Amino acid sequence: MPRIALHWQILAALGLGVLAGALTGPRTAWLGVPLVEVYAFAGTLFLNALKMLIVPLIMASIVTGVAGLGRSEALGRLGMRTLVYYLTTSLLAILTGLVLVDLVQPGLAGGHPVRDLLGLARLPESRLERIAGHGAGDLVEIFLRMVPTNIVQAAAQGQMLGLIFFSLLFGFFLTRIEPPQRETLDRFWQGVFQVMMRMTDIVLRFAPLGVFGLVAKTVATTGFGAFAPLMRFFLTVVAALAVHFLVTLPLLLRLVGRVSPWRHYRAMLPALLTAFSTASSSATLPVTMECVEKKAGVSNRTTSFVLPLGATVNMDGTALYECVAALFIAQAYGVELGPAQQFIVVLTALLTSIGVAGIPAASLVAITIILGAVGLPAEAIGLILAVDRLLDMMRTSVNVFSDSCGAVIIGRLEGERGILEA
Ligand code: ASP
Repeated sequence: MPRIALHWQILAALGLGVLAGALTGPRTAWLGVPLVEVYAFAGTLFLNALKMLIVPLIMASIVTGVAGLGRSEALGRLGMRTLVYYLTTSLLAILTGLVLVDLVQPGLAGGHPVRDLLGLARLPESRLERIAGHGAGDLVEIFLRMVPTNIVQAAAQGQMLGLIFFSLLFGFFLTRIEPPQRETLDRFWQGVFQVMMRMTDIVLRFAPLGVFGLVAKTVATTGFGAFAPLMRFFLTVVAALAVHFLVTLPLLLRLVGRVSPWRHYRAMLPALLTAFSTASSSATLPVTMECVEKKAGVSNRTTSFVLPLGATVNMDGTALYECVAALFIAQAYGVELGPAQQFIVVLTALLTSIGVAGIPAASLVAITIILGAVGLPAEAIGLILAVDRLLDMMRTSVNVFSDSCGAVIIGRLEGERGILEA
């Protein structure tokens, strides 16, 4: 029997998951066991397996990636290109969100703030006045987290930024020690990296089962009814994400990378579907690396530098979502944010999207930071919770797709051949 390609298996699992979740709902049981728990078990097992790979994978890929670059000019050039790509695409994403949320104004219904419709408390006048003069204090946090006091603790708590920073330094100084030790360490990390990729292969075989469980559980517990009142907000985010995913990034692939976007979508399908069902860029990282290297044909040198960094640092979908959500909440409260404050929102969205972890619902924390930065109450976050999960799945796919486009474009700029040529 011919083997069905993995992405078709995952896609089928996703469809079946939606169906199963919708049919069973939260309470159906079989032989006394609630089906939701069965779904949750399959999903969690898959997620655990992916997460289990992350810490050694990030370390091994960054250490070997940086050590492989060797000379510092090469590292500087690749680092610079990566940084420019990440900042540019995140900014483009935020601006797309900003334009759409200003045009659609999902927080207003018939010209009035939807505050009353959604049962929000009125803000006292004094608070509204204070909103004018706010700075963005909490951003310092992100930089502090970059240098953790304890690297093991940072890894255990999923603070990947600290782990990445440490691994970058480790890889850099690995190339600066005496040859015997250097070669030993180099081989050791290469070995770890190869083992991690093999382990990824095996975990991926179970992706269809895991995806089925995750999706069925989400649909069974949240259902579809919850987001009717927030439909316009939901659609604004989806439209903005779609513009970034279907127009901006493919244009960059075509114009800067000079490759066929269509081929790239196909190569990335397993990673996109995994991102969609796990809602976690970090958990998807092993799959992203596999697709970019094996299917899109980007070198290991570029992949292992650009992708682990991207999974934590480059989150276009998240940045876009933060901006739209913050402005939606302001509109819903009847607060007009002027150009200066919109600028604060854009800047904070950009910086917090760098600091946000690649895990489900991580944006919510960042949104409270933005709300604080412009002086809106953090409780307002409750407003968007009902639709957050589904939007999380979508923005995570966009996050992962942007990382992969970055790897392709940077690979091409570095003069690599054979990318997306198969
Ligand atoms: N779930 C997103 C990710 O992992 C982060 C977020 O926007 O909440 O990329």
